[in-house]
Amino acid sequence: MNQLGEKYKYYTDAERVARRYSCATCFGHLNIIRRAGFSEVICARKELGRCAGIGFVTKEYVERARAQSALDRSEAYWNLADTLGLARSKRSAEQIAKELGGE
Ligand SMILES: [Zn+2]
Repeated sequence: MNQLGEKYKYYTDAERVARRYSCATCFGHLNIIRRAGFSEVICARKELGRCAGIGFVTKEYVERARAQSALDRSEAYWNLADTLGLARSKRSAEQIAKELGGE
């Protein structure tokens, strides 16, 4: 099988990376595959052919990106509520951002 992920000589290094990072493409979980002479860290979805799985980002980055996306979605919903005839949440975008740990 061709190499699909990042190679690490020591399994403990692969474990550290898989624990601290997520896939940069889909923000998904990283798996470790033991191979002859090295361990490989790869996006779990890439193994299934469902992600290009190029690179890693920290889990903290993923949390911030998801919080920002939730805020963006909330702001868009709030701004378009009248136009689209949607019910507005009683919480403001700022309240939601605060609840998500944002700014
Ligand atoms: Zn992925």
